[in-house]
Amino acid sequence: MSELCPCGTKKNYADCCEPLHLGQATAKTAEALMRSRYSAYVFENEAYLLKTWSETTRPGQISFEKGLVWKKLRVLKTQKGQAKDTDGKVWFKASYQLADQKGMMSEKSFFIRDAQSQWVYVSGELR
Ligand SMILES: [Zn+2]
Repeated sequence: MSELCPCGTKKNYADCCEPLHLGQATAKTAEALMRSRYSAYVFENEAYLLKTWSETTRPGQISFEKGLVWKKLRVLKTQKGQAKDTDGKVWFKASYQLADQKGMMSEKSFFIRDAQSQWVYVSGELR
């Protein structure tokens, strides 16, 4: 696919989050994982979201809000979460549309590396 990735990197989906969604690559940083999870919400890819959720906090299933369309992601700040780190935080804003209402969610997400040393999402704090 040669369409832009929804996560906002201005890269094509095929060169950005798609290899992560397909399990052909893994996220090198917490931010990359966060972006790929945002794209997974856009595509309602529940399997990927569950796979990248820490087993300590992972829900049994994810319910996607009907009619909600994610419009844009903005990563505001990151703390650690780099190649050599074992935990990291990402602050972001995501805008969405639900029917004729526009909304914005603002979250600080916390990530760790799991037993296989892959980045996984642990929890988020709405701001
Ligand atoms: Zn992407």
